[in-house]
Amino acid sequence: MAILPIVKYPEPVLKKRATNVNRVTAEIRRLIDNMAETMYDAPGVGLAAPQIGKSLRVIVVDPTGEEAKQLIVLVNPEIVSAEGEVIGEEGCLSVPGIRANVKRWAKVRVKGYDPIKEKTVEIEADGLLARIFQHEIDHLDGMVFLDRLGRVKRELLRRRYLKRLNEVLKRGKRK
Ligand SMILES: [Zn+2]
Repeated sequence: MAILPIVKYPEPVLKKRATNVNRVTAEIRRLIDNMAETMYDAPGVGLAAPQIGKSLRVIVVDPTGEEAKQLIVLVNPEIVSAEGEVIGEEGCLSVPGIRANVKRWAKVRVKGYDPIKEKTVEIEADGLLARIFQHEIDHLDGMVFLDRLGRVKRELLRRRYLKRLNEVLKRGKRK
């Protein structure tokens, strides 16, 4: 297993629709292991394959953020039903330093292939878990949480983020 570098916004891979996975090969299983390890190390509560530079429809989620406590792995996940609305704060490992309130479905039903159980599963989620699923599935559709905000707020946060990112890059070059 390996901890992989997390791709930062606005890298193109984060804006692309990720490809369906037709078969869970040994390579995909390795990718999943590495994604889980990278998520726990970050630490984070969810990670989508595009965030480590692989444009594939794979997500790992653990609402506890604690190593292997409640790990959920889904291949080709999709939201099959949703209800209610709730606003809550979000951040993203690919958009470090920025947090914002995002409106999401309150409850979702997510369907996908579970490579641990080796079958298709449906998971009903609310609260934090519902929010994480929506956030991670957005990544597979080439969206980050900033894209869910109103235009004014989005531009403000985007500019603030890019400015900080430039400063970090400049500092890195000087070393
Ligand atoms: Zn994210």
